[in-house]
Amino acid sequence: MNDEQPILIVEDEPKLAALMRDYLEAAGYTTLCLDNGLHVVPAVRAHEPKLVLLDLMLPGRDGMQLCQDLRGFSAVPIIMITARVEEVDRLLGLELGADDYICKPFSPREVVARVKAILRRSPQLLDTSAPRLLIDEARYQASLDGITLDLTPLELRLLNTFARAAGRVFSRDQLLDHIYSDHRVVTDRTVDSHIRNLRRKLEQVCPGETPIESLYGVGYRFQLAEKQPHA
Ligand code: CA
Repeated sequence: MNDEQPILIVEDEPKLAALMRDYLEAAGYTTLCLDNGLHVVPAVRAHEPKLVLLDLMLPGRDGMQLCQDLRGFSAVPIIMITARVEEVDRLLGLELGADDYICKPFSPREVVARVKAILRRSPQLLDTSAPRLLIDEARYQASLDGITLDLTPLELRLLNTFARAAGRVFSRDQLLDHIYSDHRVVTDRTVDSHIRNLRRKLEQVCPGETPIESLYGVGYRFQLAEKQPHA
């Protein structure tokens, strides 16, 4: 992770995209613009943006589908941009996992203000979602409650995937997608055994807790209890 993580602007109207880009860059952010929905998932995987501005109506794949796609593997903040106010209620009802909604026409200043507000709310995704857990992806190190975990690279990626979306349910397929970037052929049982090992290592550090929960027929969910306040 570094400060160069861009804000991803997904908007097929070039003038609107340029307007958002200019205002965000003037506010000090790096940006990346896409005008086709099909390019969004690969771009998010490749660039790990700190936030996504997502237009609803797009060529290729629409914003609603994309929001669900992204939530399958990422906790990146998403601001959905819709052309109609009436649309927002419907979108909220669908619980797509977007963090905020902006209606067109909007003022670019408002966009910048909303972006800032959301980034202030989650300055460190890892810290807010799992403050007991520290993961250093670059060094392949992780610690829980101050105790270093002895993890394989794959277990670390698995843990990272979970930690970035604490409380979210992942199917085995979603986990496979995320941990095997080379899309090797692996079976569900492979994931299960990696999870079993990871769970055992976590539970050694916090006995009595179940940080990784199995949901029968669905998949897995990761959640750490809040840190106990010191007596
Ligand atoms: Ca559009």
